[in-house]
Amino acid sequence: MLCVGVILVASVPLRRGAKEMRVAMVDIPDGNRMVDQAMALKLATPSLETGGTRPPAETAPALPASNGREVPAQTMSPSEGTNWFFLEAAEKLNINSEVIDLLEKPWRELHVEIPLHTDDGHLKVYSGFRVQHSGARGPYKGGIRFHPQANLDEVRALAALMTWKTAIVDIPFGGAKGGVQIDPRNVSSTELQQVARGYIDNISHLLGVYRDVAAPDMGTNEQTMAWMADAFGRTHGYSPGIVTGKPIAMGGSYGRTEATGRGVAFVVRDTLETMDRDPAKTRVAIQGFGNVGSYTAKFLTELGCPVIAVSDIYGGIFNADGLDIEGVIGHVAATGSVVGMPNTEPLQADEVLSADGQLISTGLLGVDCDVLIPAALGEVINAANWETIKASIIVEGANHPVTAFADHHLSKRGTVIVPDIVANAGGVLVSYFEWTQNIQQHRWNLDQVNSELERMICGAYTDVRKVAHDEGVSVRTAGFMVGVQRVVEALELRGFVPDGGAYNGAE
Ligand code: NAD
Repeated sequence: MLCVGVILVASVPLRRGAKEMRVAMVDIPDGNRMVDQAMALKLATPSLETGGTRPPAETAPALPASNGREVPAQTMSPSEGTNWFFLEAAEKLNINSEVIDLLEKPWRELHVEIPLHTDDGHLKVYSGFRVQHSGARGPYKGGIRFHPQANLDEVRALAALMTWKTAIVDIPFGGAKGGVQIDPRNVSSTELQQVARGYIDNISHLLGVYRDVAAPDMGTNEQTMAWMADAFGRTHGYSPGIVTGKPIAMGGSYGRTEATGRGVAFVVRDTLETMDRDPAKTRVAIQGFGNVGSYTAKFLTELGCPVIAVSDIYGGIFNADGLDIEGVIGHVAATGSVVGMPNTEPLQADEVLSADGQLISTGLLGVDCDVLIPAALGEVINAANWETIKASIIVEGANHPVTAFADHHLSKRGTVIVPDIVANAGGVLVSYFEWTQNIQQHRWNLDQVNSELERMICGAYTDVRKVAHDEGVSVRTAGFMVGVQRVVEALELRGFVPDGGAYNGAE
């Protein structure tokens, strides 16, 4: 079915001095055990419907896929991969090479060593990182990942993504990320607390409520944030706004725990509306059943989508008629994994291996489904497996789950990919609300949080789709264009860019 609509393209001028444009008659075509258990108990939260105001999805145009650009290399480091997308946007925006130099590399990187006195009396040392990519638009903002393979290049890539993400959803933050090379499943709770505190002690000279604000990411949760807030407060005084994703009892925000998954579900809903697809006939598969994956599954089930497959680090499960997601959440709370859930078929491993031989995906990615949501690790959809992907829509719950090479080929094939910098921005949005509440010392209620989340993430996604339509680029390229343009504008206003401006050529 083809729908025809009148589109007002107003809110995101792409270039300095660009004017409002009216575009008429646009066709819209047819359409970890530790973490998981604690989280599962908290899932009795209100539904996706918030009653918030959002721009109707049908006012945004369809989703162009391919950019027709040169083919990226099959293997790139994570930061080379995310810079590939940045450079593509910078080229389209005609940003000059000196400004590109400024944004291609992070502003500041810190590598620390964190000593741990183990419960059995030994000394272990863990490496940690904090990367601040850009503070042009506000304090640095970004999560802290506890993962055995966390490394500086990955943290660098994730920090840059935060710069573009916070700019796209138009909140006054820059971009940062942190990581510690530790498997939280292999240490006791007291050991984990020591590492969390040690990490904050080692990087605290970079942090501050108006300097750099941390948050949870893979392998960290509310409890980790509580230890970190306390560690910072011991030397700097009461500063709840130093960390977001805290427990409610320590100044956290209602709705933060489920915010990323709720945002992903809003984005899926609007994508389906835009493509005139029926949620009830939209089969969803989700890789990762931690914070992001489990809440996304919960909210999409409420929306009426059958979630037919989910996976975690231990394996995957499948049911063609749709999984009982509340049942899976209960099973994870009881056993620590989705594996072994009654009335499901196990999924075989894809045997996609990382350079060091780690299994980086389960058999879920190639499942026959309509919407695929990678919500675990980065670079899981790559040169080795992109051809096995059957989904026509990929919504990125994880950060950088699709490599530049796979993105290029899937987009060319017509797969619509909604990038991380839009799709998983719900987490940083509610982190922003939490930070705001901490500064105001005033708590919002859950309805207020959820309706603001809906308004802001859906509004940002609509803006990005408009740019995708107008510029004839993919949603990812459009997202980067919006983010990069806003950051460059702030750099100009701060006087970082010498006379002559950030853009090549005269305007
Ligand atoms: P989490 O630690 O809560 O959950 C991670 C999940 O991935 C777990 O279920 C784990 O078992 C699973 N997993 C790990 N390795 C796997 C593998 N090889 N195959 C399949 N599953 C595997 O982490 P999270 O907070 O849900 O974060 C997931 C992703 O979302 C990360 O990329 C993170 O950067 C991104 N993200 C998180 C947030 C947030 O608010 N937590 C916000 C934005 C983006």
